[in-house]
Amino acid sequence: MIYLDYTANAPVEPEVLNTFCEVERRCLGNANARHSAGRQAHAEMEKAILHAADVLNVEPGGLIFTSGASESNNTAIFGIAHASRHIGRHIITTPLEHASVSACLTSLQERGWEIDVLEVDRQGIIDLEHLNSLLRADTVLVTVCAVDSELGTIQPIDAVKAILTEKPDCRLHVDATQIIGKLPFRLQTADTVSLSGHKIGGINGSGLLWKRNEVGMEPLIHGGTSTTLYRSGSPAVALAASLAKALEIACSNQEQRLNRVHLLNALLRRRLSTMENVTIHSPGNALPHILNLGVKGIRGVDFRDALDAKGICVSVKSACSVENTPSRAVYAVTRNRRQALEAWRVSLSHLTTTEEIEAFISAYNEIVRGKVG
Ligand code: PMP
Repeated sequence: MIYLDYTANAPVEPEVLNTFCEVERRCLGNANARHSAGRQAHAEMEKAILHAADVLNVEPGGLIFTSGASESNNTAIFGIAHASRHIGRHIITTPLEHASVSACLTSLQERGWEIDVLEVDRQGIIDLEHLNSLLRADTVLVTVCAVDSELGTIQPIDAVKAILTEKPDCRLHVDATQIIGKLPFRLQTADTVSLSGHKIGGINGSGLLWKRNEVGMEPLIHGGTSTTLYRSGSPAVALAASLAKALEIACSNQEQRLNRVHLLNALLRRRLSTMENVTIHSPGNALPHILNLGVKGIRGVDFRDALDAKGICVSVKSACSVENTPSRAVYAVTRNRRQALEAWRVSLSHLTTTEEIEAFISAYNEIVRGKVG
């Protein structure tokens, strides 16, 4: 099998799995319990929080361990919306958000919140003038992904933050799931930041939300005090320790891994540039791990299935999206429904080999010659 879907899920790092097993075996107590076994688990949890805070360069008190970026996004968006409803009910977002952001906003809209979607250019970059023109006295939240999972467009989060400094009542939430561990990102640029373990060699079901201290946020999961007020439940100590380890490994190898993925991306683009009828939707300066493309006359789902039949895994849109609908992200940059239905995504990692890229290109050629779909 050739795996080219690292944006959907990356394999766990062996050291991360070892950390999980070691902590899980050693800590039998509930970290909220007051006896010695509880205190031991609590100390381990504290260690994991400090470890993750150190890698991410943030205050440990702002870290909330979650089950993944979907929970982190839900917690931040609903939590900020509810805590700020005395100020207003207006939220601004982008057409490139993951379903765990856009679905929260649809749900809020059904309950009376007003949602505006920013325009993006052909590269998927948000229009900052449009942002300026949409901001109002009752805007309580702007939610922007640092890098989206379909095109890999890198958003100008610093510039968004600069615009929002004039609006002290408006919070900035950043879904950083696809940037953390891949490109440098300063969490303090935002008010709340989401990330996920399984995109960076962590274990599925581990995630984090970082919250700036002063930000008011109602919890999503109620149930008494735990490690944080914002997320009840017995702390998942081993998962937290494993996530801190995954962050450490991804961030300390970031530059060298990024350089490798840049080379792989360049090779892939070079090979594709000689083909007919292919459109690359990802901008040239996108995160190199993501390459979104489409072949004229072949639906994305059909291309994916044909590659799958040859043992190659790629995705159409993000794994959490609805099948057989046009890609919202590709439609936003092309304004073309056909292209949005033809789009699919190859995603690379430092583990990808040049042989895998060449095998992918051979399979691609066979499929195009056979004209599936
Ligand atoms: N945001 C983005 C940008 C993502 O790519 C994903 C995963 N596809 C998520 C959020 C959701 O992450 P999780 O699977 O950890 O809930």
